[in-house]
Amino acid sequence: MKSPPRFIVDAMLGSLARKLRIFGFDTLYFVGGADLDLEALAEKEKRVILTSDKRLFARSEGRRGLHAILVDGTTDRARLRSVVRQVGPAVTLRLGRGRPSRCAVCNGELEVVGRRDAASTGMIPAKVLARHRLFYTCRSCSRFYWRGKHWERLRRLSYSLKTKDLT
Ligand SMILES: [Zn+2]
Repeated sequence: MKSPPRFIVDAMLGSLARKLRIFGFDTLYFVGGADLDLEALAEKEKRVILTSDKRLFARSEGRRGLHAILVDGTTDRARLRSVVRQVGPAVTLRLGRGRPSRCAVCNGELEVVGRRDAASTGMIPAKVLARHRLFYTCRSCSRFYWRGKHWERLRRLSYSLKTKDLT
């Protein structure tokens, strides 16, 4: 099976970058650098450039070794749809069976932590501990995640994208 695409997202699309990570895509969020540096990194790490900047897109799309996608839409829902349409079936936004695999904040890999271990850190509110059995922690920044409301919202978003927009 072809491995899923890896992305590099320009500074204007931060919330799209976070969502792509939650959906499991290795996604760099490129802030505060020159277009040239973004392109160099994309080429080196074989990442698809996602941008809503027409100028950057026009620069990058024809360049050897680069794959750029012009993301349109003013909401993340529309942007995700735009990415899925243009990248194709390699991008499956599905959280139903899956689990979070990337940290939304730093793109680190997540690993599963049981309730007892999660509780022992003292970092998770009692109410959350009572309601969830499985937790995830980022190997890079040690943030904790669980399948809360945000996860549910994204799950619903992924289903609605699949059924309404992609058929
Ligand atoms: Zn992290």
